[in-house]
Amino acid sequence: MPKNPQKSEKQGAKFTDDIYADPKIIEYYSLLEEIGVLSRIDKLNKQIHSYHELVTGGLDIINRTSLDAIIDAAVFRISGHFMPSFITFMWKPIQNRDEITIKSYQNCHLTDLAIKLHSITPFESFFERHPHPVNFSLLAAELDDQNVLETLEKLKPEIIVPIVGGFGLYGIILMGQKIVGDSFSNEEILFIEQLMAFITQAIMNYLNYQHSLRDVKTGLYNHGFFIHRLGEEISRTRRGSFTSSVIVMDVDKFKNFNDAFGHLAGDKVLEALAITLKQTVRGEDIPSRFGGEEFTVLLPDTGKEAAWAVSERLRNAVEVMKVPWDPPLPQVTISLGICSFDHREQLNADSVIQRADAALYVSKQRGRNRSTVWNPGMGHVEG
Ligand code: GH3
Ligand code: MG
Ligand code: MG
Repeated sequence: MPKNPQKSEKQGAKFTDDIYADPKIIEYYSLLEEIGVLSRIDKLNKQIHSYHELVTGGLDIINRTSLDAIIDAAVFRISGHFMPSFITFMWKPIQNRDEITIKSYQNCHLTDLAIKLHSITPFESFFERHPHPVNFSLLAAELDDQNVLETLEKLKPEIIVPIVGGFGLYGIILMGQKIVGDSFSNEEILFIEQLMAFITQAIMNYLNYQHSLRDVKTGLYNHGFFIHRLGEEISRTRRGSFTSSVIVMDVDKFKNFNDAFGHLAGDKVLEALAITLKQTVRGEDIPSRFGGEEFTVLLPDTGKEAAWAVSERLRNAVEVMKVPWDPPLPQVTISLGICSFDHREQLNADSVIQRADAALYVSKQRGRNRSTVWNPGMGHVEG
């Protein structure tokens, strides 16, 4: 705070008013220009602008919560800096290391570049040696896989950028020549490289978040997430006039199965069961691995009869389910319990599960490999 604000305000006013009238200012200005101070300031201002753009873009990318949104934001930010003729992202999805996803953009719009690549594995060792954006010519000189190279050449990319994180190479980005101007400048490549740190972090956050919701062995939702979603669904039914349901299922005599064929064979059965479960329910249903050999499905907007039909469909699908194991394993069966709920009942997640468990217990008692819908005679559980 100046000692005499009134005085300094006055001085400031004098300074701005008289700036061009004072010959000393012109003299100093010329001197500063001559010794390069002004161009240096200009350069620093441009750098500040570029860092500002980087931080704003980076924060935008890192706040996105789906892979599609992360990639859309990245394309938007890159195209704001310079416009490549195309940008193509290729990345490997979670829990499927063989199939890759390809997404291409021209002028910020999704487009179909129709190139077929099935894996990013051929790029792994190259980007271990060069973990930064490279010119396509360098990749072309060093990549062993001729088929992959020929496929890429059709696109005429100019630079290739790796997306590298904690688990190695997640994906790559191909960029075509710039629409305006010459080839990419060092400054532009540096911008992409710095932006890449945000893109990679955003993808890692996304993957970590997904893993925190899912069971590692089967890729289904885990117990914690299921209970959370069930709680939300109960609240939703309280506000509306519809019914939702939960099915719990448990593998029959699975201890005997493990004892006879080993734990690894048992694990394979659980994996096959998870796939069958995913294939048998709708996209909006929530299948989970509730614990050991117990699975649950939340069926939003589904009444008792429809839930029963899903339960029987599941039971039948498991009866004919194929488990890849040599020698072939005997067929396993499951028992199921169903509990439906709507706004009339004051249940919480635990009491819904207890009712479905009580129904499952009846299925087991009656000889297994069957479905049972909860009814008040099986024990009344209040939340
Ligand atoms: P029931 O028909 O009454 O359900 O009989 P059960 O033998 O399935 O019941 P129990 O609860 O006694 O045994 C469950 C078995 O499930 C015991 C355990 O070894 C097995 N199990 C639980 N989790 C896993 C797993 O991740 N992998 C394998 N292989 N087995 C598991
Ligand atoms: Mg069990
Ligand atoms: Mg069991």
